[in-house]
Amino acid sequence: MRSDRSPILLSDGSSTEELYYGGYRKMRELRTTEKLIVTVATTGGFQGKEANPNLPVLPEEIAQSTYEAWNEGASIVHIHARDRKTHQRTTEPEVLREIDGRIREKNCDIVIQHSTADDLIIHDVMALGAIPKIERIKTIEMNPEMASLDITVSGMIAFGGKEELEVTRLSDIEYGARTMLDRGIKPEMELFNPVCMEDIYHLIGKGLLKKPYWISFVLGMRRLNRTFMSYSPRLLMQLVEALPPDSMFTVLGIANDELPATTLSILLGGHLRVGFEDNVFYKKGELAQNNAQLVARAVRIGRELGCEIATPSEARAMLGIPPLASPRKEGN
Ligand SMILES: [Zn+2]
Repeated sequence: MRSDRSPILLSDGSSTEELYYGGYRKMRELRTTEKLIVTVATTGGFQGKEANPNLPVLPEEIAQSTYEAWNEGASIVHIHARDRKTHQRTTEPEVLREIDGRIREKNCDIVIQHSTADDLIIHDVMALGAIPKIERIKTIEMNPEMASLDITVSGMIAFGGKEELEVTRLSDIEYGARTMLDRGIKPEMELFNPVCMEDIYHLIGKGLLKKPYWISFVLGMRRLNRTFMSYSPRLLMQLVEALPPDSMFTVLGIANDELPATTLSILLGGHLRVGFEDNVFYKKGELAQNNAQLVARAVRIGRELGCEIATPSEARAMLGIPPLASPRKEGN
């Protein structure tokens, strides 16, 4: 019986340890630091107060919810704006400016990330009658520190009893990446479908991305669109193994996929996002009180699993985003 724990060498020079744990170690090596980055998505574009009366919609509500989540350990906020009157999603720069301003007024240094989904995905194409050319990304005209860049394919989305065809062209994804590169905005590439990993390699090949590549796996969205992914542990592990070198990854899970998917991300060396955009429940049958409650649980789990939580300045350093005090010119 072997008394030491050294691996058994096989004839080709590899070891059993390498065979069994090589893949896992590769995943751990992908992480450039041990600190855990927690993103909060306070409000999305689909559900409103009918889903959870505590879901923030007004700029002051979104700023307050961001502030509370930041106090619990969130270092990035993913922002969608809503129209003051209709509460429907809007890409109006003035509303986004108001939200950003209100967050900073609270002396909150959270990393600000705007969603570009409504500018770069062409919604309800059948109603439009034709696919328009995208010439403007209103949601990043004020140069937020980060912006989401959806890496997806066209498909039918079903929500609220309606089915709509949404179109995403590779040229639009390239346009989004190029605009963010020119403006010094760090993209959060949201991957909705495994085949779209090739689009990320394509963007890297075209020189449109800066390292480290920040990739977000969107799991559990197949409920709305069957070109999107369900959550399964095996799929998440396959996605992590397919990442380009110099990547960092984060995970978001929809509804009851949020807790298991984000917890597995921590175990695989990734980061996570929680919040009302993705999930309005704390557990089955119990609505979450606020975004802070979901962030606090994620932070607690991260700490129990041995992670330190990244502050916003640490998250900036990890992602290659300039410190907050650096001047950011608007509209260049
Ligand atoms: Zn979003």
